[in-house]
Amino acid sequence: MAFRTHELGRLSFKEVEMAAKENPVLLIPLGTVEQHGPHLPVNSDNMVAGFVANAIAPETGALVAPAVNYGCSDVFRNFAGTISLSHDTLAQLLEEICEGYVKSGFRRIVFVNNHGGNEIVVERTARTMKARHGMLIGSIYPWALGYALMKDQYADVPRQYGHGGEPETSAMLAMFPEDVVLDLRETGVLSGVDGWAVEGYSKVSIPGQPVPGTVYFDSDELAANGVTGDGTEASEAVGQVWIDRITGFASDFVREYDARTREADWATA
Ligand SMILES: [Zn+2]
Repeated sequence: MAFRTHELGRLSFKEVEMAAKENPVLLIPLGTVEQHGPHLPVNSDNMVAGFVANAIAPETGALVAPAVNYGCSDVFRNFAGTISLSHDTLAQLLEEICEGYVKSGFRRIVFVNNHGGNEIVVERTARTMKARHGMLIGSIYPWALGYALMKDQYADVPRQYGHGGEPETSAMLAMFPEDVVLDLRETGVLSGVDGWAVEGYSKVSIPGQPVPGTVYFDSDELAANGVTGDGTEASEAVGQVWIDRITGFASDFVREYDARTREADWATA
């Protein structure tokens, strides 16, 4: 590795100057502070974003920027410990952070965004930077990768998967066992409200139709305890599979991004 450490925040400004000349991929961890069920920390999204970014940086030659730990969590706003920024505030923040790194000589940026409510703002930021500087910004979403890549580990995916359920509880047990409060663990199911047949925080079944419709509930209208899955069979061993698969994908993604962008005009200007 060309840098003293892959954590940019631990480098001096002289070292950052030298690092930028090597045109590395810069990972920016991003999450939010929100309820994650009675047994998981409100910082879960941030902790996992940082874990994944720091796990893949050494082997991919990327640098990890200091994290952005607040995001857009309107859907959980009625739970203690949920702190939600508006889309405009986060967009302004991400844009100014990206501009700061551009001014410091970095062009190749990949967000490790571990919260769904931030996705639309990450895209807005990426498109702003694309229009302004030609930059092709990437994004990795660990929790969503987990939902996609872990189905073979479960007997009943629809029942077990969910916010505060699986695979999140197993993943947290493997990464941060001391912060999983198993005594407080609860299971949860989405319950209908006002006669709606609910499939997700914003998805409802439409009679006679094969695909759901979209409306926007607060999460506590549908799941009062904040949980929408069943983590009672969670295990550290399954969590280790989560770590291997998600860091495996993220690492391959960053290598591919590195190979496809290293010589790009916008990245070398
Ligand atoms: Zn989240």
